[in-house]
Amino acid sequence: MAHDSLTACLECGLLQRIPEVPPGGSAQCVRCGGTMHRHRPDSLNRTLALTIAGLVLFVVANSFPFLSFEMQGRGTQTTLITGVVDLYQGGNWPIAAVVLFTSILAPGLQLALLLVVLVPLTMNRMPPWLPTLFRWVRTLVPWGMMDVFMVGILVAVVKLADMASIVPGASLFALVALIFVLAAAQAALDPDLVWSRVPIAGGCTRLSRHGEDHVSCDVCELLVLPSEAVADGDRLRCPRCTDVLHRRKPQSLQRTWALLIAAIVCYIPANILPIMSVTSLGRSQSDTIFTGVSFMLDHGMWSLALVIFTASIFVPLLKLLILIFLLVSVQWRSAWRPRERTSLYRVVETIGRWSMVDVYVVTILVALVRLGNIASVQAELGAIFFCAVVVLTMLAAMSFDPRLIWDAMEQGHVGDRERPCGAALAESP
Ligand SMILES: [Zn+2]
Ligand SMILES: [Zn+2]
Repeated sequence: MAHDSLTACLECGLLQRIPEVPPGGSAQCVRCGGTMHRHRPDSLNRTLALTIAGLVLFVVANSFPFLSFEMQGRGTQTTLITGVVDLYQGGNWPIAAVVLFTSILAPGLQLALLLVVLVPLTMNRMPPWLPTLFRWVRTLVPWGMMDVFMVGILVAVVKLADMASIVPGASLFALVALIFVLAAAQAALDPDLVWSRVPIAGGCTRLSRHGEDHVSCDVCELLVLPSEAVADGDRLRCPRCTDVLHRRKPQSLQRTWALLIAAIVCYIPANILPIMSVTSLGRSQSDTIFTGVSFMLDHGMWSLALVIFTASIFVPLLKLLILIFLLVSVQWRSAWRPRERTSLYRVVETIGRWSMVDVYVVTILVALVRLGNIASVQAELGAIFFCAVVVLTMLAAMSFDPRLIWDAMEQGHVGDRERPCGAALAESP
């Protein structure tokens, strides 16, 4: 694919020409170091093969139990959906909804939509609904958390190991394979290649008229002149992917602050209130996140305590602090180390989803340990607040626009906005 086109970096907004990238290589932004393009050889066919494999594994993983639990001659089994149903019946519908969406709906929909998009593309067809569906695929990616769910299974198994016997079910192997196939499909997919096949409404867009201010589409990265955009009421839409065009994410600072403050408010009850209660042989005991970690330390489960401490206490706090720092630095129009601040933003975006581990652990325990007075686990109010913290901080990170970090610096050099030959090449190993 010829990729010698002018593109604005999604992370800092700098316009630069991306040169031809060798297979397996990638082009980095000269200013912020963000990856602007990655050349994935034979992307469409490889992604299609992995998507079909993923769908088969997804059906298997959802059809059979992945764990069974045996204690005093009685046992229970759990499938992916059991935990969701039990949470819902126990009155914890907010967690049930989040778990259903992140562990079943998002990965399943992502695979199904990818299949529907890739089949016509590999046959060189371009149905009119294709851009919209592909946009949805990209939106779903951060919400599919099968890999985090797997860590949740590991933690739950180790937690229960000395209390009862845990037997892996048939679908556990499908689940493990699915996680690798999903990751491989994401690595194989070249979104730039898909978008380059989509025709642009109203002809070819070129940055020919200098001086006129372009807008870079946040989804397909097309550079659009306002005069070439598709009008939709008082909004402008991208002539290629039909997403609403913004120069920067709308009301980025206000929205991020609002979500962040909501997350901070939820963070307090999430840590004070119990997240689950365990009934064992008639005795009932409630655990907060913190007492859960100290229980594991007392019982010599160091590695487990470290995983839960990092995912449930350290990462959410780190995310809140980094986002506050980024917001304040942008509002003060700080010029301090923009490249490092952009990297901090990337860290927040990447680690955010891993805090969900504890929510999955609670879900799996609720689904597995259902033996009434002998042994049972219930989710408690703290888990709902904790789940809210994870979702709110993820939404806050998504509504923050890292280009605002660079805008303060750009005001001094308006003429320096366009660089004829920018992106640096890097070959990945
Ligand atoms: Zn950049
Ligand atoms: Zn677009």
